Amino acid sequence: MQIDRLWFDPAETLIGGRWRASASDARLPIEDPSTGSEIGLVARGGAADIDEAVAAAEAARAGAWGRMTAAERGRILARIGQMVLARADDLAVLEATDVGKPLKQAKADALALARYMEFYGGAADKLMGETIPYLDGYTVYTLREPHGVTGHIVPWNYPMQIVGRSVGAALAMGNACVLKPAEEASLTALAFARIATEAGLPAGALNVVPGLGEEAGAALSQHPGVHHLSFTGSVAVGSLIQAAAARNVVPVTLELGGKSPQVVFADADLDAALPFLVSAGIQNAGQTCSASSRILVERSRYDEVVERMAERYRTLKVGRAMDDLDIGPLISARQKEIVEGFLAMAPDGSVAAHGTIAADAPAGGHYVAPTLLAGPGPDHPLSRDEIFGPAQVVIPFDGEDEAVAIANGTDYGLVASVWSENGARQMRLAKRLRAGQVFVNNYGAGGGVELPFGGVGKSGHGREKGFEALYGFSVLKTVAARHG
Ligand code: NAD
Repeated sequence: MQIDRLWFDPAETLIGGRWRASASDARLPIEDPSTGSEIGLVARGGAADIDEAVAAAEAARAGAWGRMTAAERGRILARIGQMVLARADDLAVLEATDVGKPLKQAKADALALARYMEFYGGAADKLMGETIPYLDGYTVYTLREPHGVTGHIVPWNYPMQIVGRSVGAALAMGNACVLKPAEEASLTALAFARIATEAGLPAGALNVVPGLGEEAGAALSQHPGVHHLSFTGSVAVGSLIQAAAARNVVPVTLELGGKSPQVVFADADLDAALPFLVSAGIQNAGQTCSASSRILVERSRYDEVVERMAERYRTLKVGRAMDDLDIGPLISARQKEIVEGFLAMAPDGSVAAHGTIAADAPAGGHYVAPTLLAGPGPDHPLSRDEIFGPAQVVIPFDGEDEAVAIANGTDYGLVASVWSENGARQMRLAKRLRAGQVFVNNYGAGGGVELPFGGVGKSGHGREKGFEALYGFSVLKTVAARHG
């Protein structure tokens, strides 16, 4: 897509229903990771824009948006979903260009964004309070109310999906949102906001201020007018956000990183498992919080799994996002450097296989060949730290206890899976694995807009997605009426 043929101006913010340049008129370059070239400019919002956006959100709460019934909010979200569906191809091209993800993946992300709007549109009027039996002469009931103004700070790896799950649930509950997209990839957040406006979302219900993390992001996280923060990103920034939330005593949802294992027992159906074992690691060039970067295999089938995964790796092709191969570029030169730094730590002889970078991949793009590692032990940095690139480590284990000890042996706990035909073992492992989601004989369940998602440990806390997110984006009020 030609950046000059967009249906919105990426150099503008959306505040209180008005599209305009940032207060300082500053801009940031937009880079196409497939080529490394600058393809346009995006607004560089700052503290003044965040102040205005929070005020606009507060005004929306006090105005039309705040007075709207839950059913009306749901209808608007559903309409946004239909309009996202109608523009899914354009949104996919935009996301592929901005993030570097293969077009097919970008299209799946656009459909997920539509699905979030449908799901939360339908859910908006389904969350109810309860009545509580209490003292004679009292009637007690609970109300679910919005926090007020919610701040959303999102990363660059799945902008559409993460905006969908976080803003969708917040709007469904009647909050007014201020969204700060990642500086590396802001385009689809802005495109989505334009669609939402066209679908009839009242002014100020959704405000978008692109900009740098340490400027617009920090200003949003520290703003005393924000009543709830939702952050998806790195552990380092997540802890800054939590500290800022603590100073203002507001709740925070943190969706951070992971080192998610798939645990393969000797009795597993390997034909069924193999496509999941590889795709869960290399999807989005491994830049996925829930990427499965560790494959634990019972020793008797370790060599077989390594060889079969290696066969697949040798066929993997890396190239331009719009060429829609298996893997696109990484988001930035910096990310490429980080991933190459990890790969340089691989012990001698531990590279089992790697994929191929297409001969016509532009020299300026941030390409890394996917790499399968068999050799680093469970305590090696490659097996413990989040690489956020197309690399997986295969680790052998002996017996269930060791499998659980290795699987639970990192600081993270986002997702895990167990591959086994033994039903009792599936149930045991589902309980013993330390993760926010556990999959049995699959991985990821196709994304699952409906499935609550979030971590334990350094993977964060709070849940987004599914019905559960509606609890997070609302506050329970207890009303006790004494009537005699
Ligand atoms: P990041 O933490 O650097 O940036 C995420 C967002 O935070 C961006 O919008 C950025 O501008 C903003 N930010 C940066 N510094 C800030 C500050 N001082 N104050 C406020 N905001 C600030 O993370 P990243 O490099 O963009 O993303 C990669 C990380 O995100 C990985 O660790 C990955 O696992 C994690 N992630 C987690 C999930 C999840 O759902 N659990 C999803 C995607 C990514």
